[in-house]
Amino acid sequence: MYTATEQVLVNLALYDGVADHLQPDRGVWIGADGTIKAVGAVDDVLAEAGDARVVDLHGDVVMPGLTNMHVHLSLGLPGHLADTVHRSNLAELVLLMADSARRTLHAGITTARLVGESRYADFALRRGIEAGAVDGPRIFTAGHALCCTGGHGWEADALEADGADGFRRITREQIRAGADLIKVCVSGGIAGQFEAIDTPQLLDDEMAAVLRVAHDWGRKVTAHAGPADTVRRAVELGLDCVEHGYELTDEVTRLMADRGVWYVPTIVVSRCEQFFRDSGVPGWLMDRALAAGPRHWESLQHAIRNGVPIALGSDMPPHAGYDETSATVRELEFMVDAGMSVADALKAATIRPAEWLDRADTLGSVEVGKHADLLLLRDDPTRSVSALRTLHAVVKGGVAYRDDKHRLRASR
Ligand SMILES: [Zn+2]
Repeated sequence: MYTATEQVLVNLALYDGVADHLQPDRGVWIGADGTIKAVGAVDDVLAEAGDARVVDLHGDVVMPGLTNMHVHLSLGLPGHLADTVHRSNLAELVLLMADSARRTLHAGITTARLVGESRYADFALRRGIEAGAVDGPRIFTAGHALCCTGGHGWEADALEADGADGFRRITREQIRAGADLIKVCVSGGIAGQFEAIDTPQLLDDEMAAVLRVAHDWGRKVTAHAGPADTVRRAVELGLDCVEHGYELTDEVTRLMADRGVWYVPTIVVSRCEQFFRDSGVPGWLMDRALAAGPRHWESLQHAIRNGVPIALGSDMPPHAGYDETSATVRELEFMVDAGMSVADALKAATIRPAEWLDRADTLGSVEVGKHADLLLLRDDPTRSVSALRTLHAVVKGGVAYRDDKHRLRASR
């Protein structure tokens, strides 16, 4: 277990997650409790910090750690991944997830929202990370995803129920286990053999039951959802966030924007051919995923154009390779290619997820009082999100978990 060391980072350029431009010649004072004590002009920060150790960053860029809002650390896609997850006993599953958590953190993701895991192992992992026994991002988890009998995700350990009573029960079971949010699959998707992307799955009374229980207990609900009509029904019932949205329309994205419903596009999942090939998925899955690509892209463009609040999520393991970077960084690049400004894309990966998670007071930007969750890059991300390809150090809570250039070694 590591503990934070009080230190002042100097000789750095800052993207703080608030201003859209890069601020040259900044200093960041990190306290022994792992929070940010001061940010600003170097001389001012040094004056405030007294005799804290000074670390020269040689002109690197510092930015907030990324948040990935659609993660499965126990991803069980049909193929090698499901075989591994299902063959594992509970102890093996936890180790598998801990390995994925560490890789996720090293890829620059300091906060992860888990939207469907197995056998409640995610809660043990969350405790292990919080206790400092396991290296990983800060975890916000939904526990098991929820679906109807035979609905999307059932083969990947989503819990099945039918009728409003059944859905009330499995929603309460996730909250009892410690769920921070609820994930429900309301339509078909890519990974279910006997469904189509546009198969409606939950009835209105079932969706309403989930939303009512979750909201009464102060939990938000995000839904795996494909077709526009299913999304419209869920949004009208009070849904908080849409995952994938493979077939969104101009009309439904206007409704989402009006109601303040968020969108996590996971655009990589309809174009990650190499990942599917490496994962040994069946042919029908690959065909369906790639066929969904063009319409999925249009959905993202409708959402951008109509001002839907958008957050970064990959569905693929956040650290998985994609075009010589990670799935997380590639997702951000795709968002910009689809028409999002660089400034919005950076916020979709930092401060906006913190807002959805109701943690904008402690996470998502480099500001006084927040956790020192920081990335070091060589290049300027406000010019291009591809600058994240030059990531070389990751700090969480004031502790350096990755430091390729040994910039921070002296502070350990
Ligand atoms: Zn997913």
